[in-house]
Amino acid sequence: MTDNAPKNPLTLLGLGDMGTALARTWLAAGHALTVWNRTTAKAETLAAEGAVAAASPAEAVAASRLVVLCLLDDASIDSALEGVDLTGKDLVNLTTGTPAEGRARAAWAEERGARFVDGGIMATPTMIGVPEAGGYVFYSGSRGLFDTHREVLEVPAGARFVGEDPGHAALHDVALLSAMWGMFAGISQAYALIEGEDIAPKDLSPLLSEWLGAMGFFVGNAAERLTSRDFTTGVVSNLAMQVAGSGTMLRTAEEQGVSAELVSPYVELMRRRLTSDPAAHGGEDTVGAITLLKR
Ligand code: NDP
Repeated sequence: MTDNAPKNPLTLLGLGDMGTALARTWLAAGHALTVWNRTTAKAETLAAEGAVAAASPAEAVAASRLVVLCLLDDASIDSALEGVDLTGKDLVNLTTGTPAEGRARAAWAEERGARFVDGGIMATPTMIGVPEAGGYVFYSGSRGLFDTHREVLEVPAGARFVGEDPGHAALHDVALLSAMWGMFAGISQAYALIEGEDIAPKDLSPLLSEWLGAMGFFVGNAAERLTSRDFTTGVVSNLAMQVAGSGTMLRTAEEQGVSAELVSPYVELMRRRLTSDPAAHGGEDTVGAITLLKR
């Protein structure tokens, strides 16, 4: 192959904000790219940049062994691929879904004679094709598929394979996003508390960043305690103290005229753990409260 020859061909279905960003990185890296999008104007834009715009999902799928999906949600996969022959295809699904959707989609692909890998994108479109932005994609499912196409999959962002259970990419994705939302909730509460006071958000900002960084130790602390099931050794901030302290947090919110709706569920969880058996749990690390979440 000469340097100018197109590299491994692939097909991409879905040219929304994310799909378009992915497509541009494969074109820039010299891959032969076939695209399809429900609204054809978006495919025409990519065709002007060097992609081949297919007239239908069936035509797009037929063009390459590797077929990447980046559609809105799981239901849109059914509407795009209804009746399309997937025999012998390697299907990579970058559409966000739940673990159960990932597993069901893997079985669906297998029934149709395709190998399948599910993906969870940990990046925004602006981070795609920008390695220093640190974005990556979780993959799980067929190891053979992943190994075959690893180089192509690493073009838009880093690729992290997290096992052969096709539900695990989505599970990793949602676990990280859940932690992010909890953090966003706490940050929102912090800014709401100072609103109307003579404290500028931009002055609180570096303090918040620094504090969240220092409190990041909780991630490793929780992992260790959940593995050992030891919630009591070496505790420096015990549950009884935290529950008492949470009263100050809730009263401060009230004094400031701020709703506590974002933080009170976590306070309630800690309180539930404590009151279920104060003697047993009062001296524990707050990590013990996690055990109450599993239904
Ligand atoms: P957009 O809303 O920009 O694009 C959605 C895409 O899905 C479009 O191509 C749209 O086609 C297509 N689509 C929607 N419904 C159907 C349907 N019934 N049949 C066929 N095609 C359909 O979303 P994004 O591109 O931003 O997101 C795509 C996926 O990537 C999502 O699952 C999202 O969760 C995930 N993701 C996005 C991130 C982001 O920051 N944007 C971050 C991480 C993951 P049409 O153009 O015709 O409307």
